[in-house]
Amino acid sequence: MTAWSLGPLHDVLDSVEFGSLSVADALAKRGADARRPLHPALAQWTEHAVRSYFTAVARIPAPPGVPDGALLDPVSRLWARQRGPLKPGDPDVYEEVVGDRRYAGHGIRELRMVRTASVADRPRDDREIALAVGVLAGGSPVLSARWERKRLRLGRFDPVRMVRLVEIGCADASYRVLFEGTPEEAYARYDADVTAHIDRLIAGGGFRPGEDCGRCAAVARCPEVPSRPGFLGVTHSGLPRRSWSMTTGRSYRACPARAHLADLFLPRDGSMENTEAIVRGQAVHAWIENLHRRTPQRPCSPDDAPAQHDAWECAGWAVTGHQARLGVQMIGDHALVCPLRDRPDDTEAHPERPVVVYDPEADVVVIAKTDLLYRVGHHWTLRETKTAKAPGEGDPLEQYPQLALAVLLARAGVLPGAEGCRVELERLTGSGPVVTALDVAAPDVVAQARRVLEAHVSPWHADAEYPTKPGEACGDCPFTRWCPDAKDAKDAKDAKDAKDTGEADA
Ligand SMILES: [Zn+2]
Repeated sequence: MTAWSLGPLHDVLDSVEFGSLSVADALAKRGADARRPLHPALAQWTEHAVRSYFTAVARIPAPPGVPDGALLDPVSRLWARQRGPLKPGDPDVYEEVVGDRRYAGHGIRELRMVRTASVADRPRDDREIALAVGVLAGGSPVLSARWERKRLRLGRFDPVRMVRLVEIGCADASYRVLFEGTPEEAYARYDADVTAHIDRLIAGGGFRPGEDCGRCAAVARCPEVPSRPGFLGVTHSGLPRRSWSMTTGRSYRACPARAHLADLFLPRDGSMENTEAIVRGQAVHAWIENLHRRTPQRPCSPDDAPAQHDAWECAGWAVTGHQARLGVQMIGDHALVCPLRDRPDDTEAHPERPVVVYDPEADVVVIAKTDLLYRVGHHWTLRETKTAKAPGEGDPLEQYPQLALAVLLARAGVLPGAEGCRVELERLTGSGPVVTALDVAAPDVVAQARRVLEAHVSPWHADAEYPTKPGEACGDCPFTRWCPDAKDAKDAKDAKDAKDTGEADA
């Protein structure tokens, strides 16, 4: 299965631009490619994205000096330029390459950057723009094979009178002209925005493990990502490297296709409705997270709860009425068990810190979003906070699989703390706060954590097809638009609401 939402789109555009196929024929050809099968939802998305691409292109005004209706020619070779050291200590030569869709003609070079989501209000990345227009103005065609690991061989440099950089959002056929100007203006832009940051560009800005590790080819050798063979307890399935998080596990249980589509970063439908309990849980989480991010760091106090008890919001999660009051009570309760309360002078807190570990036996990158990693004195603890109207019964590891993952991360020594990291569960409920410490050294706790995790990981890990499971899961699925099997949204939501009798946890 293809592992990138725009890969098939580029295949189709290549067939249209360099193979002279019609859009319909190019789509059919890609869909019939048995060596690289497409998930049905990815096929549906690709068709939408290709048509959006051409719709957007037809709307973009012709560049100055190009007669209306005249088209630029697609360019199959990448453009690159090689630059010498800009200051002492730089590498001898570094190479700047632009990919995406390239076009030329009428003395113009144009690069169209294809985005999955809308570009209508996408933040501008000035450095990316400056780097691209520098290469557009001064680059030459790349002659070496795509994956050759040597210095690039470049063809002849053809000067142009104008360069243009455009981005296109395939979700809604939106476009933006990010730059249009002479080569001199492009170089000036490059000099202003890139040269000043060249150290960071060359150094790559250091390693910041997080969600993107799953897509990184170098993750197995990354100094910041610990390798733990056997962490997941499954062996290599022969599938390409994938990433797994608790969200993957949950989505997969609801619908295998949904987990796969999230992995591909297909555009989501943002208007899906969450239950009131989920919104309240998110609002409480975000509020407490903000408290823990204050500088100087200080313990939460009951006065830190929202002042408006009947309606408040945090990080876009708005609550009213009963849920708002319950949330205020939970935040006040948190102050009673805030981990920073005892020795505020010798603590540090890191809310929402991603923890990444690579399991080479499974060939899976595991990404854990931890609620709070904190230190008191010499001791580090990972605390997961859960909100629920009523305290749950039963095994907490079973109830909160994230906790099982936390236990195994602590056991594997990938959390901070020289003599190990503790794990605890904070439950904020309608009847008060409860903090439970888990003994990560106890064999039965570890064995149970392993059972819970494996039950989430194994079916996903062995699956290469990601079949759809239409029905109830469609009710809050953000990808129904791309799914050929999606149940009518209203039917699915009704089915889900009927089943959602209990209180969901966040
Ligand atoms: Zn606190």
